[in-house]
Amino acid sequence: MAKTIQAIRGMNDCLPEQSGIWQYVENILRSTVAQYGYQEIRMPIVESTELFKRSIGEVTDIVEKEMYTFDDRNGDSLTLRPEGTASAVRAGNQHGLIYNQQQRLWYMGPMFRHERPQKGRYRQFHQFGVETYGLAGPDIDAEVISLSARLWRKLGIADKVTLEINSLGSNAARAEYKTLLVEFLEAHKAQLDEDSQRRMYTNPLRVLDSKNPEVQAILSDAPKLQDHLDEASAAHFSQLCERLAQLGISYRVNPKLVRGLDYYNATVFEWVTDTLGAQGTICAGGRYDGLVEQLGGKAAPAVGFALGLERLVLMLTELGLTDDVPAAVDVYVTALGEDAVLYAQTTAEMLRDTTDLRVQMHCGGGNMKKQLKRADSAQARVALLIGGTEASDQQVTIKYLGGDADQTTVALAQLSSTLNAFFNP
Ligand code: ATP
Ligand code: MG
Repeated sequence: MAKTIQAIRGMNDCLPEQSGIWQYVENILRSTVAQYGYQEIRMPIVESTELFKRSIGEVTDIVEKEMYTFDDRNGDSLTLRPEGTASAVRAGNQHGLIYNQQQRLWYMGPMFRHERPQKGRYRQFHQFGVETYGLAGPDIDAEVISLSARLWRKLGIADKVTLEINSLGSNAARAEYKTLLVEFLEAHKAQLDEDSQRRMYTNPLRVLDSKNPEVQAILSDAPKLQDHLDEASAAHFSQLCERLAQLGISYRVNPKLVRGLDYYNATVFEWVTDTLGAQGTICAGGRYDGLVEQLGGKAAPAVGFALGLERLVLMLTELGLTDDVPAAVDVYVTALGEDAVLYAQTTAEMLRDTTDLRVQMHCGGGNMKKQLKRADSAQARVALLIGGTEASDQQVTIKYLGGDADQTTVALAQLSSTLNAFFNP
């Protein structure tokens, strides 16, 4: 027998038993952004490598060690997108969507990072993100945060997630702060780990983000970015905090929150949870006012976020919050005998015409026991039993599979209303 071929490590199939919860989550995301008037943008999965180097930054985890980069047949360096923001800005610049305009966009799709696969961390994973352009004030920051907060409420996880926010200040203020931070780090160089020693010169802010507890302990005495913000960023941040309070969104200011991508300035935020172990961030974003210009467009302010769909699906599954995930099949239609099969199939079509129920028709014959077994494994709540008598009398027998009610026979004309009353009481 030929050897079976396996999927690439860290790249998962989404099997039929999981696709229901994925669709449920995706539908909530789509309908929520629609409530805020955001429009979808779809970008290619492959972009030129240059795009990510110039936007995410050379000295970041993503660009240093996580990108899937290859030369195509023309010798051009291409990369499987590791995130969506760079592509959205590239597309916005290319098609003139950004300069002198206001845009509120969303996207959803696969991203690729060569990381060590583990729970909540994969090599192909899926992000849903929003990006807004041309809006500079704290009002839009508050909007994207409140949009994300609404997602958690709709998914039923609002009490399991915490909002952390910080301000990175203007580029000038951050540059000044960096000098102070490097001075501090130099004084403690011997106690830093290898990564931090290297980064203190190439990208010192990223040292603040270190996951090493020993480094974190040293950092508790480091100068704080918040004490060195420029006036405009400080005002923007306090107005944002005020708005969040008015909108009833609780938050924690985390002065060490810097995000792992270089393009951020001013507002940054993350939604974190302690229900997923080490992979605790489910959504992250912030302002990136310099990126549009850095990628060749005319300057325009921008703010957005991205969330990880795998981590959301994991959370819902582990917390058992899957009651609202619709079943693949509501009604399973069985039939015994040739006349009955014909009648059953037209009945199933009639139900699809007149209701929104998910109606599956038994195909392939077999006795009633076998057909009802299929109905059970499809997790239908109702089976329609159709034999010669039902066919000749234009009736249908309804069997409630969960023991919800007694079996009953109704006239064909009453079938839709009877089922609607049962499924949508
Ligand atoms: P982390 O610190 O967990 O590596 P990150 O800062 O690299 O996250 P972002 O680039 O901000 O993550 O991506 C936004 C969201 O996408 C994350 O909060 C997370 O939910 C999700 N995400 C990022 N990397 C992965 C991955 N490899 N597998 C699954 N989800 C991921
Ligand atoms: Mg990462």
